[in-house]
Amino acid sequence: MLSVKNVTKKYGKVVANNDISFDVMPGEIAILLGPNGAGKSTLIKCIAGLLKFDGDITIDGHPNKSVEAKRYLGYISEMPAPYEMMTAWEHMEFIGRAYSLKNWKEEAQALFERFELWDKKDKLGNELSKGMQQKLNICCGLLPNPKVLLFDEPLVGLDPHAIKELKAMFVEYRAKGAAILISTHMLDSVNEFWDATNIMMDGKFAARRTRKEVEASGEDLEQLFFSITEGAKSESGEEV
Ligand code: ADP
Repeated sequence: MLSVKNVTKKYGKVVANNDISFDVMPGEIAILLGPNGAGKSTLIKCIAGLLKFDGDITIDGHPNKSVEAKRYLGYISEMPAPYEMMTAWEHMEFIGRAYSLKNWKEEAQALFERFELWDKKDKLGNELSKGMQQKLNICCGLLPNPKVLLFDEPLVGLDPHAIKELKAMFVEYRAKGAAILISTHMLDSVNEFWDATNIMMDGKFAARRTRKEVEASGEDLEQLFFSITEGAKSESGEEV
């Protein structure tokens, strides 16, 4: 569903992503872990089609910058940036029309009710609190019912109710066959449902594990994370 092949992204001399390849399959929740500056946001932005990069990224077989790929892709950014002079509801209308969604009103209302935004629907973007902006960001990303979902630190700034709903949604989207990639520092919050983990350091994948592999090793996610990032060795023993 999501296929990343040999992706390299440089900012001047900084190699933020260094020859990265991996897939996320339908019905899989993959997580992206790593210290600050490891290259996680850059990778997610490359997949979302927001940056130029070397390599190939496809969404359901379509190049990631094609219209077909964008139809299937949902990107929930780390920094919500609503339009200041549009109401919350107008954001949903904009997405509904841009994607030519048939039942966008019903689905937008259901999302707003779930994320406790329904009574805020007529507030302008700049009247929403940071947490409300993030909830609107999530609702906008989910409205087209994407097959591939990218979340960059989605739980930061959310209240406990929204965290609970979003975690439930990850699992619901997986059950519907979506491929989901979540970048996060909040290991505890993804512990219950991740299927594959990718640990990034210095622009590379320092380790990749399935849940079965981690469970069989007797380690948990946190132990794996620290053994890789504080050991500062890649799987091959190479310094990373
Ligand atoms: P992470 O999301 O894992 O914290 P980033 O992808 O944001 O990491 O950053 C990876 C590297 O790329 C870091 O060295 C960072 O300083 C650099 N970087 C990120 N964005 C830019 C940018 N717009 N211009 C220059 N360097 C950047």
